[in-house]
Amino acid sequence: MIALRSRLEIKKLKAANQMVAEVLQLVKKNISPGVSTAALDKIAEAEIIKQGARPAFKGYAGFPATLCTSINHEIVHGIPSKKRKLREGDIISIDVGVCRDGYYGDAAITVPVGVVSQAADRLMQVTETCLSKAIECAYPGERLYTLSYSVQKYAEDNGYSVVRDFVGHGIGTELHEPPQIPNYGKPGTGLILKPGMVLAIEPMINLGEHTVQVLADGWTAITKDHKLSAHFEHTIAITETGPEILSRL
Ligand code: MG
Repeated sequence: MIALRSRLEIKKLKAANQMVAEVLQLVKKNISPGVSTAALDKIAEAEIIKQGARPAFKGYAGFPATLCTSINHEIVHGIPSKKRKLREGDIISIDVGVCRDGYYGDAAITVPVGVVSQAADRLMQVTETCLSKAIECAYPGERLYTLSYSVQKYAEDNGYSVVRDFVGHGIGTELHEPPQIPNYGKPGTGLILKPGMVLAIEPMINLGEHTVQVLADGWTAITKDHKLSAHFEHTIAITETGPEILSRL
């Protein structure tokens, strides 16, 4: 069952997602060479607690931190660490979830550390555009996999590959709700979007092959060919008039 959220519920989901967006901006401001991913995690956690909410990832299936920090060839679910310091030229995906007043927010950005290669810059730009393309399709009456296909098409047209092993998701009173939202698929198929659906769309796009490997920590997903990967995520609501991005300030 896919929940259709009331106007009041969407208001609460927006409040949670606005907090997520603020936390992402705060973390982004603190990104520079030499900063550890654990330091970023601490900043995010303190801010969420200060604002009266709860980090949604911490403790989720045993995940140990507030942020997922995934650097360069790490795709998603990187665990913040004191030992892991950012270096000039890195790109880092910051993913954060909060639970506020019983409702969840979830979003991610990929950010350059100092000056990055043209290849890294282009990968980030294309991945962010993939997300926009999916959101642009999110109108009532559209089919879910049209969104998925729009991500795949733009990524592949640019010579990149789409991660298959991880997908976007519904979100509401749980962090992960149905439906699953793959970043590839056949346009014009899948469930029909309806007003009140709230979706976290999150393309993960690789410079090389799509194949994934999970490290021995049980979490960190990397590209098998060790080439760069980027990740952007927004939580959106489907309204009568089209998509509303809840996680954009
Ligand atoms: Mg998510």
